[in-house]
Amino acid sequence: MLKLAVSACLLGEQIRYDKTAQRDRFITDKLGKYASFVPFCPEHLAFGTPRETIRIVQESEHKKVITVFSKNDVTEAINEAVEHELRKIQSEPICGIILKSKSPSCGLGSAKYYSGAMSEGKKDGLFAFTCKAYFVDFPIEEEARLIDPWLRENFVMQLFAYHDAMVLQENIQTMQELVSFHTAYKFLLQSKHEANYRLLGKIVANHAKKSLHVVTHEYLALFKKTIAHKGSIGKTVNVLHHMVGFFKKELSSAEKQELHLQIEAFRDEIVPLIAVMNTVEFLAKKYNTTYLLGQKFLNPYPKDLALRSVIQEGK
Ligand code: SF4
Repeated sequence: MLKLAVSACLLGEQIRYDKTAQRDRFITDKLGKYASFVPFCPEHLAFGTPRETIRIVQESEHKKVITVFSKNDVTEAINEAVEHELRKIQSEPICGIILKSKSPSCGLGSAKYYSGAMSEGKKDGLFAFTCKAYFVDFPIEEEARLIDPWLRENFVMQLFAYHDAMVLQENIQTMQELVSFHTAYKFLLQSKHEANYRLLGKIVANHAKKSLHVVTHEYLALFKKTIAHKGSIGKTVNVLHHMVGFFKKELSSAEKQELHLQIEAFRDEIVPLIAVMNTVEFLAKKYNTTYLLGQKFLNPYPKDLALRSVIQEGK
């Protein structure tokens, strides 16, 4: 089971400044089937609930935090709470962070910054900024962006892949386990970043005969960077052609034709990716192509999340 750090208000906790929640059903009901949550709320920790709203004021290089009505400087209190919440999530084996948008604490690129009374643009909130600095190449998103099916699919794929990487890191005993891991992720990595995929292959080949510890460390560092890239329709079509090439000798000409038509329909945004994937999987089962059936790209996360079922999932 995955473990995710999530803004407490998104989990339904009535912890916002006005004692309301902003429960996000995708997180609690869909991801909640496969993940447990570590809630955080720096503002509740610093000021309790209900509380006065705060805003970030940029003063040349420095930012300070003030309460909106009473104009108290609460920079120190909120910074302490941010550090505390960071330590809390650091101590858990999390594989992702989901933040609440637009909040001066949690917003990811969506927190308003002020210069005096004037808004001067949107940046990372205080906690979001701190998380990004500590958790590098890590799945971090805010709930408002996850409404976009393309971002949502990419993010969830990254979460599950990151979790697999953590499990491998924890349990690896032999080089063969690393080779098997890379083999299973071949097409998914290719769909993210072709050049990195090839570099990862070279690391696994380990011609320099480095120790398992060193190779695994190098591999997983680049793996995490690679899965942080977004896929695209073009890259996915390329991978689909590679997959077909894998068992084209077994396929009848009618099956080949059907697959190519489906890939074209996906490229032209007429059918969603799941339609093509189901056909690939069906044919891989029919011809017992175990190499393809073992590919994470076919099933990167539980099917009932249904993230590849909408045309808008591709970009
Ligand atoms: S500080 Fe973050 S977790 Fe707490 S209420 Fe605001 S947005 Fe939600």
